[in-house]
Amino acid sequence: MTASLHLQKVVFVLTIALSLTACTQTSPRQSLSSTTNPSLNPSATNPPSNTPVKPTANLAFTVPPQFQGKTVYQVSPKNQEKVIALTIDDGPWPKTTPAMLNIFQQNGVKATFFWVGTALQAHPDIAKQVAAQGHAIGNHTWHHWYRKMDAATAKSEIERTAELIYKTTGVKTSLFRPPGGFLNNGLAAYAKSKNYSVIMWSLTSADTDPRAKPQAFVNNVLKGAKPGAIVLMHDGGGDRHRTVEALPKIISGLKQQGYRFVTVPELLAMAENAKP
Ligand SMILES: [Zn+2]
Repeated sequence: MTASLHLQKVVFVLTIALSLTACTQTSPRQSLSSTTNPSLNPSATNPPSNTPVKPTANLAFTVPPQFQGKTVYQVSPKNQEKVIALTIDDGPWPKTTPAMLNIFQQNGVKATFFWVGTALQAHPDIAKQVAAQGHAIGNHTWHHWYRKMDAATAKSEIERTAELIYKTTGVKTSLFRPPGGFLNNGLAAYAKSKNYSVIMWSLTSADTDPRAKPQAFVNNVLKGAKPGAIVLMHDGGGDRHRTVEALPKIISGLKQQGYRFVTVPELLAMAENAKP
């Protein structure tokens, strides 16, 4: 990863587009001409160091075939390996997202960020930083609406966000998280029809509880950790300084329990029934 990091550092000052190309595809079946069904690429964050620079469009977060068009809460990893995926919703967000990026970088942790279109539009530079640091990206709709909506609105909520994610970072993603976890308002149905994986969670930090102290978030995660768990946290949608405060303790506590951190696409690729 040293070479990749160096490469990213060098090209980041030139253009984010180039920096993103440090993350390259490994699947021979990849087809980036397709925006709706990019092919399997679980190792987007782990490129070989001698790969030549390619266009921005080569950064894709895709899912194995058996998870396409499906709802996922957690994964049963091969050999019950102690892997866990931290997911961060509702950003990009000023202050909290960069603070979390620093913590992740210091700890060598990769996470998965689910972005809201309106937040992304407001904070494109933060988004570029997230992508450049090798975290996985998912779609969390444009407006973060919970209400039932017609098919055209659901389509617009997801496609508009997908387009801005691509325009801003060069990322194409097959990961979708429904706002509030609502699965019956039209959004998840549209996402599935486009072969997204609808990524829910198996463990919440409960960091949206306005009265809880950061230590409560830490306890929630450390008590509920299981191999293959998907953990819900937030960097945006409100003041998340308590989540930032909890994050280093969550990471160190999980490491003490023997966990290794993976992105959601990496986790899906580790499922015991995953096919190559
Ligand atoms: Zn959300």
